[in-house]
Amino acid sequence: MKKILADRTSKIDASGIRKVFALAAELQDPVNFSIGQPDFDVPEKLKEEAIKAIRQGFNKYSQTSGDALLQQRISELVKKEIGWQNPSLLVTSGVSGGLLLAFLALINPGDEVVIPDPYFVIYKHVPTMLGAKCVYVNSYPQFSLPVDKIAEAITEKTKMIILNSPCNPTGVVYSEQDIKALAEIAAEKDVLILADEIYEKFCYDGRFGSIANYYEKTLLLRGFSKPYAMTGWRLGFAAAHQCLHRVIEEMTKIQQYTFVCAPTPFQKAAIAAIDYDVTQYVEQYKTKRDLIYEGLKDKFELIKPGGAFYAFPKAPGGSGTEFVAKAIKNNVLIIPGNVFSEKDTHFRISFATSNEKLQQGIEILRRLA
Ligand code: PMP
Repeated sequence: MKKILADRTSKIDASGIRKVFALAAELQDPVNFSIGQPDFDVPEKLKEEAIKAIRQGFNKYSQTSGDALLQQRISELVKKEIGWQNPSLLVTSGVSGGLLLAFLALINPGDEVVIPDPYFVIYKHVPTMLGAKCVYVNSYPQFSLPVDKIAEAITEKTKMIILNSPCNPTGVVYSEQDIKALAEIAAEKDVLILADEIYEKFCYDGRFGSIANYYEKTLLLRGFSKPYAMTGWRLGFAAAHQCLHRVIEEMTKIQQYTFVCAPTPFQKAAIAAIDYDVTQYVEQYKTKRDLIYEGLKDKFELIKPGGAFYAFPKAPGGSGTEFVAKAIKNNVLIIPGNVFSEKDTHFRISFATSNEKLQQGIEILRRLA
């Protein structure tokens, strides 16, 4: 048979997170610290909104850029939180959809994409498939924003800097001071910032600062998956200042030929989600963060996560992969650091699980340390 696969498929590997997640099916009642999704269900009120929308017949395509009322509500939110008048908007199929459209709209082969390491998996694999060169900027061991190193990494070929705060996999929330410093560097070098703020509601130790507040050439991506536990509903949005309206226009054009629109009934439910207060969930997740940090900090080298639902400890013995194999043999599913990094020295814990499972997992990991 002729070679049927496109060359780009050989440039990337299957998701290391999904591989560990698949193992969960083979284990007896494992402690599953592998996948990044909330353990609570979609709030009843929002489920009712989705059911109501389906019953009312909102089951056809919406406009490619999104339901008009949802657009209006997102526009108000962006105006209030970021201060952009009349932002350009696109409702996307999750932040993953927004990332794909952004990369398709922005990246030419040979472009450089600057990414703090460790990083969320999509930032590496999709640009690589598109022929970009990923330029990794080491943020070990503290995982604070490596502003100076980012400045050094910028070249003539830099197309964008990716910023993810709170960060997956480290849980670190970048300081306001560092965010401002990066905004200044980006402005000076005239480089676009792609800000993935999917965990923006999950901050445990104070206010979250968006770089969009300091830099207009920020392409902002936010999502509904995590705060409302609707990862299967596939909803997010991209927002930009008028100065980047062409980027949103091009992303919308590409959405016409790919996703077409985000799921229509769930867009209706998202209108209610914008007004839905998630403080109680964030409080519960703060307790989980405390449990995991207090439970592991004396046995592992661990930076206290300020947000999201991840912790990224150093692997005892130095190899993330080896420690993860040992943990899986002991019924704890965690992800080796090299899935999120050019290094393999750490491992990721998702603490989005019951407090009981957290306690069990902490005990086992302590034994293995
Ligand atoms: N960005 C980050 C940093 C994530 O952790 C995730 C989900 N794990 C996504 C984007 C994608 O989320 P979704 O497509 O469900 O909105």
